[in-house]
Amino acid sequence: MSEVSEEGTPRRYRCGVTYEQPDIAGLRQGLDEVDTGIVRLIARRREIIDAIAKVKEHSESGIQDPERERRVLDGVIAVATDLGVSASLVRTIFRELISDSVAQQVRHLNGDGGGRVRVAFQGTAHSYSDAAAQKYLAGRGLAGDLAGYRTFREAADALLAGDADLAVLPIENTTAGSINEVYALLRSREMYIVGEETWKVDHCLAAAADVPLSSLTRILSHPQGLEQCSQFLRSLPNAVPTTYFDTAGAMQAVAASDDPGLAAIGSPEAAAAHGLVVLRHDIADAEENYTRFVALSRTPATMDVRIPCKTSLILATRHEEGALLRCLEVLSGSGHSMTKLESRPRPGRPWEYLFFLDFEGNAADPKTAAALDELRSAALYIKVLGSYPAKALRHLPRPGELGEPGEPGRQPGPGQDESPADTLEAVAAEQPAVRRSRHYRLVDRAARQADTVIRVGDVLVGGEGFVVMAGPCSVESAEQIGACARFVRDHGAHVLRGGVFKPRTSPYAFQGLGWDGLDLLVAAGREAGLPVVTEVMAVDQVQRMASAADILQVGTRNMQNFDLLRELGKVDRPVLLKRGLSSTIEEWLAAAEYVVTQGNQQVILCERGIRTFESATRNTLDLSAVAVVRERSHLPVIVDPSHGTGQRRYVAPMAWAARAAGAHGLLIEVHPDPDRALSDADQSLSFDGFAALMRRLAAIQPSAAG
Ligand code: PEP
Ligand code: MN
Repeated sequence: MSEVSEEGTPRRYRCGVTYEQPDIAGLRQGLDEVDTGIVRLIARRREIIDAIAKVKEHSESGIQDPERERRVLDGVIAVATDLGVSASLVRTIFRELISDSVAQQVRHLNGDGGGRVRVAFQGTAHSYSDAAAQKYLAGRGLAGDLAGYRTFREAADALLAGDADLAVLPIENTTAGSINEVYALLRSREMYIVGEETWKVDHCLAAAADVPLSSLTRILSHPQGLEQCSQFLRSLPNAVPTTYFDTAGAMQAVAASDDPGLAAIGSPEAAAAHGLVVLRHDIADAEENYTRFVALSRTPATMDVRIPCKTSLILATRHEEGALLRCLEVLSGSGHSMTKLESRPRPGRPWEYLFFLDFEGNAADPKTAAALDELRSAALYIKVLGSYPAKALRHLPRPGELGEPGEPGRQPGPGQDESPADTLEAVAAEQPAVRRSRHYRLVDRAARQADTVIRVGDVLVGGEGFVVMAGPCSVESAEQIGACARFVRDHGAHVLRGGVFKPRTSPYAFQGLGWDGLDLLVAAGREAGLPVVTEVMAVDQVQRMASAADILQVGTRNMQNFDLLRELGKVDRPVLLKRGLSSTIEEWLAAAEYVVTQGNQQVILCERGIRTFESATRNTLDLSAVAVVRERSHLPVIVDPSHGTGQRRYVAPMAWAARAAGAHGLLIEVHPDPDRALSDADQSLSFDGFAALMRRLAAIQPSAAG
């Protein structure tokens, strides 16, 4: 290594040591031979690993054997100690070798390799993301066409638009912590983690010429680069840190500028690529500075069960004491060790949190699949981001740390004991009245004794609470929805309803105001301080609706639109699932199961009347369904007496009866001028009618059984 002296001539480090010129060439030749020998030995090692992979191909055994890895490391460290070689150097080298061997075997089992993939990353050529993406491909024997994008969002969009097969994005750094924007993308976009890569970051400070640090006025870098070098930056007397969209781009900008006070933080490779002089190496606050990257795909990968995998998921907990703990106990009790738990704000829900969780396990393994199922019912919302070969340095478990296979040593949760009555079968056997269904499992009361409670704004739906959702059948104008919002709020409603996409029997009838109507509804709700519920009719409306409305209603005609139900299972928004107008309770609960199996447990059932031979009312409101559903399922159930009867004068009596029967709430149509309502005029209550309904409601006690 050389640096430039004040006179501008190169000088050697370790001044005073003179090397014998004639010998050095010979010594270097010897060194070159040793280095080539090392590479040859690595190649030989890989041949043996290949042979092992072929043998393992036909065996059930996993490809990672922590005990054997520990013995390998202990063995080589003992040799190193004997020879006076640094144990930590040898450990570092062998960790890399072992992880390369695991990657080689993973490739073998997965049949990877040989392909060409298009990879999107954030930044420009020579950025850390570029380097990590290349390392990721090389480790899998893939060739790639890499394309850099200005932002994480643009890289993700390229993946989702099909312009890339993979996006490689940084997710956390050992110095600066999590990269929030990437977490937000994982939450909101349909992308799955199919792999991970780590990169040791060596930040250096580079400028166009060799200038003293005190002459620098501005330091450009990606915000992460600035954050990871914050101590060093504070030591520069005159320089202002300035964010730039990526580290290599910052280097390029410095090279292109003629301002001598400009410098950039990035990799030495990027500095060299842009012809800059490195003023200082290793300037990060922490010496061991790693970034973990995730490889994202549009579809999840299925990994061979012998591959040691990590599984990542997003989770929202139930509104109960000890809710997070119960979820974590599902993992620890089934022998899965958690490698990361991160909490992030839950969008649109002040002071509520989503948890990002990584654990060691493979969703293709039945034991992990069972744990995920159990987690689904313990949590309120889960999105499984994927199972993928673990790469980040993990501890090698000591014997006894791993649960015995087949005997997960499950710990009982709080308030539970280990009596056989805790098994689902035993609970079902003790309650012969409750018949287990073949069509649903997670929504079954047998899977969860306690009522599911769903938070909407400040109100809780389910359990002890009683919630009134009221408003017009359709949003018609800002004035109409605004007047409804104020009136129903002042008379005790908790949620504002209003249809904007209307499922009308006749194509000639008013079809709703669509997205403009949604804006009016949301504005009226915000103004009145009420959360809003509105109907979603199609799969492609779900994401946009979920970002604006507080509850997404599935209308009676869509109860068995399974694609729609599955899509709703992927978002973190409560779903109000109306009973199909000719559906049995069994079919209704099976429809709820469709939502829940995708990860979203926040389903509110709504009885709205069914078709019978009776023609005196529009539908026959089946109030017995409330008692049946409360027995069979832990989900909240509310009643819609407006559609249930179709006639204004029957709405209030049925609303009172619903409360008495143990319903968790009501859905009521109210209009400032009901006779002129553009939809469902006959059943809409006037303001006075709604006020009268609410006055009497307060006096009604729910049934003891409810
Ligand atoms: C509604 O609530 O306006 C509605 C259309 O309901 P349903 O799907 O029960 O007919
Ligand atoms: Mn209606």
